[in-house]
Amino acid sequence: MFESSSLGGSPPEAQWEAGWWRHARPVVSPNFDERPAAVAIDMVVMHYISLPERQFGTHAPLDLFCNRLNPGQHPEFEVLRGLRVSAHFFITRTGEVVQLVSCLHRAWHAGVSKWRGREKCNDFSIGIELEGSGFEPFEPAQYRSLAALCDAISAQWAVLHWVGHSDIAPERKSDPGPFFDWSRLPKIAAENDRDVQK
Ligand SMILES: [Zn+2]
Repeated sequence: MFESSSLGGSPPEAQWEAGWWRHARPVVSPNFDERPAAVAIDMVVMHYISLPERQFGTHAPLDLFCNRLNPGQHPEFEVLRGLRVSAHFFITRTGEVVQLVSCLHRAWHAGVSKWRGREKCNDFSIGIELEGSGFEPFEPAQYRSLAALCDAISAQWAVLHWVGHSDIAPERKSDPGPFFDWSRLPKIAAENDRDVQK
C-alpha cells in the first residue's frame, strides 16, 4: 500500500524499470512469454478474481498465478488444476498492488478475445486483476491504487482502449462485473471507447 498523493511528483520514467512499476510489490509469475515484435501496448484489461469465490485475503489468487495452488485445498480449485494463467497486476482489497509479470512481456489473462476486429488481446494489453467478485463493491483503497497505477501506465504507454474482460470475451467472461465503477477513473473515462459501438 502507498499514499497515492506521494506518487504525483514522480516523473514517469522514474516509476518504471524494465516494465516493472516501482510502487508495486513484485511476486514473479512464470506464466508469460514474449509479446509479438512490433506490437504496441495500447489496451488495459480489467478483471476480478477471488479464490475461493467471494473469499478475500487468501493467498490463492497469487498461488494460482504462480502455479503454486494446491487443487486439493478447496473443491473450487479442482477445475483450476494445471491452468497456466497470469496478469500483470493484482490489487488486493486493502489496495496493495502486486506485479506478477513485466509489462514488456505478455501475460496470460485474456484468453480467446477480440476487440474491434483484433484478436489475441494478450498481445497488446496490460491485465489488471482486482481482488473481488461480481457480488459486491470493490474497496475505495482499490480504486485509489488502481487510479495511481493507471496514471503511471498512461504516462508510459499510449493506451487507447480501457476495457473489461467481458468486453473482449463476452461469451465466456463477466468480469470486472456490475460492481466495477468505471466512473471512478475519470481521466480514463474520457478516453474510453468501451461504450461505443463495437
Ligand atoms: Zn478476467
